[in-house]
Amino acid sequence: MAAYTWVDHTFDVVVVGAGGSGLRAALGAAQAGLKTACVTKVFPTRSHTVAAQGGISASLGNMGEDKWQWHMFDTVKGSDWLGDQDAIEYLTRNAPAAVYELEHWGVPFSRTEEGKIYQRAFGGMTKNFGEAPIQRTCAAADRTGHAMLHTMYGQSLRHAVDFFIEFFALDLIMDDEGVCRGVTAWKLDDGTLHRFRAQTVVLATGGYGRAYLSCTSAHTCTGDGGAMVLRAGLPLQDMEFVQFHPTGIFPAGCLITEGARGEGGYLTNSNGERFMERYAPTVKDLAPRDMVSRAMTLEIREGRGVGPNKDHINLHLDHLDPKVLHERLPGISESAKVFAGVDVTRQPIPVLPTVHYNMGGIQTNYHGEVVTLKNGNPDEVVPGLMAVGEAACVSVHGANRLGSNSLIVTSSRKPSSPSSAASTALSPAAPTPAKTSRIATISTG
Ligand code: FAD
Repeated sequence: MAAYTWVDHTFDVVVVGAGGSGLRAALGAAQAGLKTACVTKVFPTRSHTVAAQGGISASLGNMGEDKWQWHMFDTVKGSDWLGDQDAIEYLTRNAPAAVYELEHWGVPFSRTEEGKIYQRAFGGMTKNFGEAPIQRTCAAADRTGHAMLHTMYGQSLRHAVDFFIEFFALDLIMDDEGVCRGVTAWKLDDGTLHRFRAQTVVLATGGYGRAYLSCTSAHTCTGDGGAMVLRAGLPLQDMEFVQFHPTGIFPAGCLITEGARGEGGYLTNSNGERFMERYAPTVKDLAPRDMVSRAMTLEIREGRGVGPNKDHINLHLDHLDPKVLHERLPGISESAKVFAGVDVTRQPIPVLPTVHYNMGGIQTNYHGEVVTLKNGNPDEVVPGLMAVGEAACVSVHGANRLGSNSLIVTSSRKPSSPSSAASTALSPAAPTPAKTSRIATISTG
């Protein structure tokens, strides 16, 4: 290191990543009066969150009765019973307040006739503990992540977050006691090396979908935060839990949101059969993603796939009113045209299950503090280090995330205490914190 010249920076909090979770963390810290930096390898509004289409879950009850307990039940069940139930309770209880907070910041949600936030159906979201599908996913057309990112970037600038854009974070700076003291980064436009000292480093570096050949995520989703944690000798958790989304456009892999089935879309095999009625008679095409992906794979394996090689499945939107498609699903109509050459108002979209979400990641408690195994304690907090968003694993998603449950994960916090909820104190082990308030963000993977 001595051979290089380092440019030094000192902050209370350094957030690595400017997707939904990074911006929420940076904004919360800055609102709490902390000197906050946000280091990102891509421009904030180009972070992968921009691609999130369908929406963000919260039991607002705008389309009929809903309760956070029903949302909690669905999330526990959807996780294949492997999610952390305290974290799930925290998330689902606080989700409505998080959505209203986004609304008040300016996210342009779609609206019902009465002017309330529009909510659509999403896989695995049910009423009365599994009785029937429910409309719980709050949507800004099919560009919800786009709307969230732009709004939170604007708010972060308003609260004077210092952005370091096109800075590639390289490694954590850990001291001999295992305390995180900062992070190093490489400035991409001039090649200089930078050293960020901080009381708390928050890793919000997103998922690692690009470990797979075919995935719905951006080329930037390379699991950099997880790699930094491993190099620091800290553990990752549940890395084998990788979600396949049922409807990647065949063969490109680009996503057709579950919101398409939420609006009434359905899958058929080569016999023209709506086969999900056999696999999930109650929720049918809106069964959780793992069930639908498995059912599609079985249909193909048993020779009922469509196309010349019988290697994919058809997704129908052609029975829906073109006005609904235009208003609620404009982005996916365009993707289907560009990547499969089909006009969704007249033709089915060819689809195949594709890697979509990483449930595993950097091990944290539900305050977002990174934990490790030390002196026989598996939940020993690593001072000065947090992880949030898809990079982290709390885990609210267990072995399977429900659609629309990850945008809410990037945004939730307890409404009553904006500067302390779902947060960690500045590391007590760190020297002379400039301010001692807490970071406001929840984190899960
Ligand atoms: P990201 O948005 O991926 O942001 C990662 C950030 O880290 C970026 O700013 C990047 O620049 C930065 N970064 C990474 N490595 C480095 C490094 N080494 N140095 C500096 N910066 C770095 N979820 C829902 O709930 N609802 C949906 O409708 C939905 N739709 C989706 C559609 C698609 C196509 C996909 C793939 C996912 C969708 N998801 C959806 C999942 C959801 O979008 C993601 O889980 C979520 O956006 C992840 O946010 P994040 O902030 O953790 O990461």
